[in-house]
Amino acid sequence: KKKIAVMTSGGDSPGMNAVVRAVVRMAIHMGCDAYCVYEGYEGLVQGGDLIKRMQWNDVRGWLSEGGTLIGTARCMAFYERPGRLVAAKNMILHGIDALIICGGDGSLTGADKFRAEWPSLLEELVANGQLTKEQIGPYQHLNIVGLVGSIDNDLSGTDATIGCYSALARICEMVDYIEATASSHSRAFVIEVMGRHCGWLALMAGVATGADFVFIPERPRDRDWKADMSTVVRRHRELGKRKTIVIVAEGARDKDGTKITPEEIKDLLADKSEGGLALDTRITTLGHVQRGGTAVSYDRTLGTLQGVEAVRAVLEATPETETCFIAINENKIVRKPLMKAVAETKELSKAVDAKDFEKAMGLRDTEFAD
Ligand code: ATP
Repeated sequence: KKKIAVMTSGGDSPGMNAVVRAVVRMAIHMGCDAYCVYEGYEGLVQGGDLIKRMQWNDVRGWLSEGGTLIGTARCMAFYERPGRLVAAKNMILHGIDALIICGGDGSLTGADKFRAEWPSLLEELVANGQLTKEQIGPYQHLNIVGLVGSIDNDLSGTDATIGCYSALARICEMVDYIEATASSHSRAFVIEVMGRHCGWLALMAGVATGADFVFIPERPRDRDWKADMSTVVRRHRELGKRKTIVIVAEGARDKDGTKITPEEIKDLLADKSEGGLALDTRITTLGHVQRGGTAVSYDRTLGTLQGVEAVRAVLEATPETETCFIAINENKIVRKPLMKAVAETKELSKAVDAKDFEKAMGLRDTEFAD
C-alpha cells in the first residue's frame, strides 16, 4: 500500500487547501494512505507530529479556506545535505514513499535535489547506523511530483499557477475601491502590488482596471520614463479623467537596474513646479491582502484537478520517470518535466527586449487609457 504525503512550501497562495484536500481524498480513493507534512520542509526535518496521517473527513470544508491549513515555512536546514538526511530518515520512519509538493520554484528545486540525492542519503543513513538495510529496503526510489502554488504566476511552462487569479481578483477589487475615492477628489494614486521578479499581477491588473501607467520588472523603463509617464497622464487628464492610477510592481526598475519606487512616481505626479502635473497624490501598498482571503473558483478548480493528477502521476511513476510537475496548458491539465521549467523560468526572468516583450504579451504598450 502506497503512502503518499502532501506538503505546502514557500509563500502561501489561495488554492493550496484545495490541493491538499484533493491529494488526500484521491490518495484514499486509490487505496493509498494519505499524509500531510505540516510547515513545509521544516515538517520533514523535524518529523514527529508534523507528519500526520489524514482521513477523508480531515479535509472537509477546506475548499473555502484561504492560506494553507497545513502551514508553510522557509526551512534553512533543507538547503543543506544534513537537513535533507534527517528528512529522508523521517520519511522512512513514517513509511512515506511518495511526496507531492505545492510551492514556488525554490520549493520545487529543493524537491528535485532531494529526489536526486535520495539513494546516497539512504546509503549514508545505513552507513552511519541510523537505519538498517531492511528498513530502507522498500524505499529505493522516491517519487516526487510538484504543483505550482504561487500568487505571482511566475513559473514557465504553465499558463497559471495556483493562486494567481485570486490575487489578481483581489488587486482589481482594491483598485476599484481606490478609484471611487480618487475620482471623488480628482486624485492620483500610486498602487504598489506584489511581484519582485514577475510583473504578471501588475500588468494584468493594469489591463483589468484600465490603469494609466504600469511598471513591471520584465520591461525596464528608459531612463526618461518620467517624461513618458507625465505625457500619458497629462493626456488622460486633458481627455477628462478625474483619476490617475499608476500600478507599480515591487521589482520595477529602469534600464540601469535602478529600482523605480512608488515615492519617486508620487513626487513626479505631485510636482508643483512649472510644467509639473501638480496632482494630489497618495501611495497605497496593497501588501498581504493580495495573498490572503479565499480562493476564486479558478484556483479551487485548478488546485483540485492538479491534485488529482499529481496522485495519478505518483502512482504511474517508474524509477526511470523524470520528476514532473503538473501544469495547465490551453485548459488541459498536463505533466511536464520539472527542472526544465525551473531553468526556463530563470532564463526568462532576465530582462527581455521591449519588442519581444510586447510580442510575448500580445500588447503594444503597457499603457491602458480609459
Ligand atoms: P515563493 O515563490 O513564495 O518564493 P518558493 O518555493 O520559491 O516560493 P523559497 O523560499 O525559495 O520559496 O523555498 C521554500 C523552501 O524550499 C526553502 O525554505 C527551502 O527549505 C526549500 N528550498 C528552496 N530552494 C532550495 C534548494 N535549492 N535546495 C534545497 N532546498 C531548497
